[in-house]
Amino acid sequence: MAPGWAVALVSEVCADAGVAEPSLRWRRAARVASSGVTRWGVGSVAVTSGSDPVDERLTLLHELAHWVAPQARRRRGRIAHHDAAFYAVAFRLYERHGIPAPEALAREGGRYPSSLRHARTLGVPGADTAWHERRVALRERARLRRPVRVLVPEHTVRLVRDGRWTRCGVCGVRIVGPVLVRLRKRSGRHLLLGTG
Ligand SMILES: [Zn+2]
Ligand SMILES: [Zn+2]
Repeated sequence: MAPGWAVALVSEVCADAGVAEPSLRWRRAARVASSGVTRWGVGSVAVTSGSDPVDERLTLLHELAHWVAPQARRRRGRIAHHDAAFYAVAFRLYERHGIPAPEALAREGGRYPSSLRHARTLGVPGADTAWHERRVALRERARLRRPVRVLVPEHTVRLVRDGRWTRCGVCGVRIVGPVLVRLRKRSGRHLLLGTG
């Protein structure tokens, strides 16, 4: 059974948009976050609500944005994704129906990072900062994840003296300890890896 505020919100949003109301299905789950799904085919919006009231409200508004947004980009009977037209509707609903911009950006951006780009285009307050912060975080993550690559391909080690050290004359790597002992006895091959 949907709570009264949710039923009222569905009516208000659909009246504003001039569209028929979906049937609202509501169930509770023992978790913090909410989730939802909109099915045009059967004319329903279903929400599984968690304990966070802002998330619950935002989730219903997100589904209502699917319900009232232009439906041209439907694919294979399912809702086409979260594009510019969708977010123009969604962020307007969040603003009009009591989701503060920072909350909308944090929650929507957490689920659908591409929403930040649309929010920025739409001029949602704080979206520009959130979008830049995400770009910095992505760049940093890419840097940390950069794969190891071969700096010098596999070659036969050629031992050369360099002061008190021994190096490979091909790649320049210093060779010490048991590896050096082994290579002195018997020639070997290696390659030089790096993240450069
Ligand atoms: Zn969605
Ligand atoms: Zn080498």
